[in-house]
Amino acid sequence: MNATAKLDEYIPVVGQAIIDDLKLLAERLAQKHVLHVNSTAVGGGVAEILSRMVPLLGEMGINTKWEVIKGGDQFYQVTKKFHNVLHGRPDEVTPADFEIFMETSRKNIAEMNTDYDIVFIHDPQPIALIQKKGQNKWIWRCHIDVSKPHPIVWAFLKEFIVRYDASVFSAPSFSQQLPIRQALISPSIDPLSEKNRELSPEDVDRVLAKYQISRDKPIITQISRFDRLKDPVGVIEAFLMVRKYIDCQLILAGGTATDDPEGLQVLAEVKEKAADNPDIHILLLPQNDFEVNALQRGSDVIMQKSLKEGFGLTVSEALWKVKPVVAGNVGGIPLQIKHKYSGMLCNSVEGAAFALKQILNSPAFAKRLGENGREHIRNNFLLTRHLRDYMLLFLSLDYAEDLVYL
Ligand code: UDP
Repeated sequence: MNATAKLDEYIPVVGQAIIDDLKLLAERLAQKHVLHVNSTAVGGGVAEILSRMVPLLGEMGINTKWEVIKGGDQFYQVTKKFHNVLHGRPDEVTPADFEIFMETSRKNIAEMNTDYDIVFIHDPQPIALIQKKGQNKWIWRCHIDVSKPHPIVWAFLKEFIVRYDASVFSAPSFSQQLPIRQALISPSIDPLSEKNRELSPEDVDRVLAKYQISRDKPIITQISRFDRLKDPVGVIEAFLMVRKYIDCQLILAGGTATDDPEGLQVLAEVKEKAADNPDIHILLLPQNDFEVNALQRGSDVIMQKSLKEGFGLTVSEALWKVKPVVAGNVGGIPLQIKHKYSGMLCNSVEGAAFALKQILNSPAFAKRLGENGREHIRNNFLLTRHLRDYMLLFLSLDYAEDLVYL
């Protein structure tokens, strides 16, 4: 991991005015103590953002801490089930699930110090901590699409949500009517992090060589947790359709997050589907941002064929690296990709295969998609914009408006 970049290092990327703006906002929050709480320190988009956001808020003088709740296997199986059914996947949720959820919540409520001016809770796993609320301000940040949630799980969560001072969703279409203030803030990537910084061609080659991948034919890559909602099997199916016509290879790479117990099972399904095809490379990645960066940069096309998605940080990461992206038309992905302008959206395996063929057959088209994508990310989805939105939200908590559009 590289040391966290300092705020002024972002000036060449986004311009002086944006950094000056951030410093002015931070001055007004200088006395505040802020606590972020989520459920995993590594793996997945939330941890990725917090690992960059927290040090920068600190540098700007806002006293910011990040805590991770503690839970066992059973708890994470339940929260994974909640996550799936909130995204609309059918599954049976039982009273025992709620009891397991509350038992772990009670332990965290007893152990965690929430004595901060602002407590910022990420996603459903730590939601019940709101029971500790005093005079301080609490924000619930929902990173997932809850537009069509499981009614019983949503009703359970809502009992907690309504006690918060504000909620944050990534996009209007993800949210629900709530009697508390809502802010709409999309996530972001850090252009200077180990995962997104520029790399030399030698760095890229070294990582590809480590995984015994040669660059003698185009590389299509999806980097994601092995999760059915990321549709890794669908990626293989699309690849196999393309492979009939174009000599190319596929990398499916991912680690497993500590709050995701299904990963190994999905990995086994993926391996079975790949059936030792020498053009399909399945990589179980260690948590290593440099390698993810190099694999993304070494690829000719990036896929993110999700069936459901929160925001889909991997899409921003790839577009920032000027890559043509083929991605599912779900969740936050259409915010990042305008079809045929800054990437290709797909709704099926056949659609994904068709988009891959178009990209592989037309290098000029592929280049244009990547370049448009990078500018779109520069203008909308970099960490500096995200910091500004969070600081405006913190300031707004001292005022009484019902609705805050940032
Ligand atoms: N990621 C990673 N290693 C992996 C798989 C994913 O570092 O093996 C990163 C990926 O680069 C991205 C984040 O984890 O930064 C995943 O965020 P996204 O919003 O795409 O999906 P989530 O996992 O949160 O559903």
